[in-house]
Amino acid sequence: MQWIGRRESDNVDDRRGIGGGHIAAGGGVIGVIFLLAKFLLGGGSVSDLQQIIPQGQQQEMTTEQKAQDDERAKFVKVVLADTEDVWDKIFSDQGKTYTKPTLVLFRDATQSGCGGASSATGPFYCPADHELYIDLSFADELKNRFGAAGDFAMAYVVAHEVGHHIQYLLGIADKMERLQQQLSETEYNKYSVKMELQADFYAGVWAHYDQKMKNVIDEKDIAEALNAANAIGDDRLQQETQGRVTPDAFTHGTSAQRMYWFKKGYDTGDISQGNTFASDR
Ligand SMILES: [Zn+2]
Repeated sequence: MQWIGRRESDNVDDRRGIGGGHIAAGGGVIGVIFLLAKFLLGGGSVSDLQQIIPQGQQQEMTTEQKAQDDERAKFVKVVLADTEDVWDKIFSDQGKTYTKPTLVLFRDATQSGCGGASSATGPFYCPADHELYIDLSFADELKNRFGAAGDFAMAYVVAHEVGHHIQYLLGIADKMERLQQQLSETEYNKYSVKMELQADFYAGVWAHYDQKMKNVIDEKDIAEALNAANAIGDDRLQQETQGRVTPDAFTHGTSAQRMYWFKKGYDTGDISQGNTFASDR
């Protein structure tokens, strides 16, 4: 993807540098207290507590690692800016207004409107505060753990999380919340997979328009996105991450399904074709 020197989004809450190791670790402790209170008041569960406790000791970054992290931050800010331009256009073409989400960049642990986030949580979208949460070390995981290398793999992740924001704006997230209260966990999980596949479809639609409007994506990028979709399908993930807490990486559909929907979005660029709920694929 051609991204160097291009517009970076301002809708970013960069919490990576807040005092380095100690304060970040302190954030984790505050998170534990916050959730402990929630737990004692009957609103949380034991698994909530397990999720927030930081995994292992935090390491100081070397200068090289920091430079790499900053470059990744720039990259995701450019991708976010591109999602703003594309979804602005798609919404305004339909006579609607696109409300931009904020991207929170963090390192190790932070708080979200949906509870504590840690690097082990994986990237996610929180419908309660309309923010995207990403620890940039996920790019290493994509490459090293899932074999999904290339900058566009991370662009796909950002576009997928923005896809959840689109669902929120279109009222799909609300419907899902109601279903969650009505259905058994097994039944709800089927809908949850459809929702994830739709976020993949929207990521594909974004890539379609980004290429059309800016001519910055090539076939190699699409191959990287498809490779990432393939690598982080549930069937692959469950083999590779037994026992890990990655809420936004589970119940996403198989590798084949994820690739199918991303590609359909990319090929058609037509959001009306993204009703994954009504499809057997
Ligand atoms: Zn998702």
